[in-house]
Amino acid sequence: MSKEIKTQVVVLGAGPGGYSAAFRAADLGLDVVLVERYSTLGGVCLNVGCIPSKALLHLAKHIEDAKHMAAEGVEFGEPKIDLDKIRKHKDKVIGQLTGGLGQMSKMRKVQVVNGYGKFTGQNSLKVEGDDGETTINFEHAIIAAGSQPIKLPFVPHDDERIWDSTDALELKEIPERMLVLGGGIIGLEMGCVYSALGSTVDVVEMTEQLIPPADKDIIKSFMKQIKGKFDQVMVNTKAAKLEAKKDGIYVTFEGKDAPKEPVKYGAVLVAVGRAPNGGKLDADKAGVKVTERGFIEVDKQLRTNVDNIFAIGDIVGQPMLAHKAVHEAHVAAEVIAGKKHFFEPKVIPSIAYTDPEVAWAGVTEKEAKEQGIEYDAVTFPWSASGRAIASNAQQGMTKLLFDKSNRIIGGAMVGTNAGELLGEVCLAIEMGCDAEDIALTIHAHPTLHESIGLAAEVHEGSITDMP
Ligand code: FAD
Repeated sequence: MSKEIKTQVVVLGAGPGGYSAAFRAADLGLDVVLVERYSTLGGVCLNVGCIPSKALLHLAKHIEDAKHMAAEGVEFGEPKIDLDKIRKHKDKVIGQLTGGLGQMSKMRKVQVVNGYGKFTGQNSLKVEGDDGETTINFEHAIIAAGSQPIKLPFVPHDDERIWDSTDALELKEIPERMLVLGGGIIGLEMGCVYSALGSTVDVVEMTEQLIPPADKDIIKSFMKQIKGKFDQVMVNTKAAKLEAKKDGIYVTFEGKDAPKEPVKYGAVLVAVGRAPNGGKLDADKAGVKVTERGFIEVDKQLRTNVDNIFAIGDIVGQPMLAHKAVHEAHVAAEVIAGKKHFFEPKVIPSIAYTDPEVAWAGVTEKEAKEQGIEYDAVTFPWSASGRAIASNAQQGMTKLLFDKSNRIIGGAMVGTNAGELLGEVCLAIEMGCDAEDIALTIHAHPTLHESIGLAAEVHEGSITDMP
């Protein structure tokens, strides 16, 4: 059966970018159709990304914390892991959120069309769904088709012991020994989950540090804090060959300190980044330019080279993060509704929800050097924070960067709840705060966010003696 729909705005893809654009456009009075190939809304983030990973990391943190409390006088027994129950819990969290999105679409009268959409022209899209084909004639389109895990040519991806992040989130089994191939945020988060659930986890990273874009000092501290969580952390090392044998995946490493012989793993999680889906939409039929790598270039209003077609989220480039997609979505919808808005944030925060968390926003010291910015970097060790000591988080660290005029230009943290603490740094940078503004803001005692005020005081040379 084939159908035809006419709409003011069609949004292709219902991830955080897509549903946010659809909702904002509908709230602004536009007629909206949202196209999604899967039966649930929410995209990667809600179904196989941010949310399920955080549900599992929450459990992992409790398991790890329970282990460490013995030294403080409270001892728990060995955790009993019920994978079926954990999976159900994770799926319930996903269901709650994706179900909520379904209701929010209905409330706004956003029409959802399920199926795979491809452009057929500058004002038309064809969607192939289970119940037939739908042609959508639109005035404006917002492309929010996201990204997918990168596959490596030398990896036998069809072997079921080779996982991507989606496979890892399925929790089919807890392998005795597993390798995380790629020391970025996604790989390390899942590594923390499997380590807490009982796997022996190795990590291999080709560059010189884990989470390459993060600050060097912060990662140095992170490396100290994760001792014992992972077995081998191999930086400056390449996984050069993967052989799927009956008894395991044999990985050959290359690098100065790499193991000489192939190492056998029960599973290998390949987490080497994500590739945009730009090449799969017949975008050329609408005249939209797609780069060789599959990205769609946009201007500060998220407009592509074709006037009535916009693009947002992972498909337009780095950082591939849900909150960036949401903010871009709002701008695109508002521009279509006739508002003169632009996407030009000063900072987009990045957080690894590992244990401990790593969080940063603005420029890092390395970037400041590369950009020739004169700066002062100050660190505040959490070993001088009363709250951190009381919470067994004293290994953490806060680092702030100020420019020549004392304005804050960057901030990073490693430690318990670093991701939550980062909000203050983001606001300070967006508001153009200087060190005095931050130092004179009364931070509650004892809290971990005091470390931000105290770091600013260090910069001001007026550090108090409050532990
Ligand atoms: P997506 O979420 O990828 O959504 C795109 C949607 O488009 C999908 O639903 C897809 O099915 C649909 N689609 C694609 N092509 C078509 C088509 N032709 N027709 C119909 N539908 C189509 N980000 C964070 O900010 N914080 C985190 O903690 C975080 N954790 C993550 C953990 C993991 C394991 C992963 C994999 C990612 C994580 N991310 C996180 C990244 C985050 O998920 C993405 O940045 C975000 O989902 C991008 O949103 P998007 O709207 O651009 O695209």
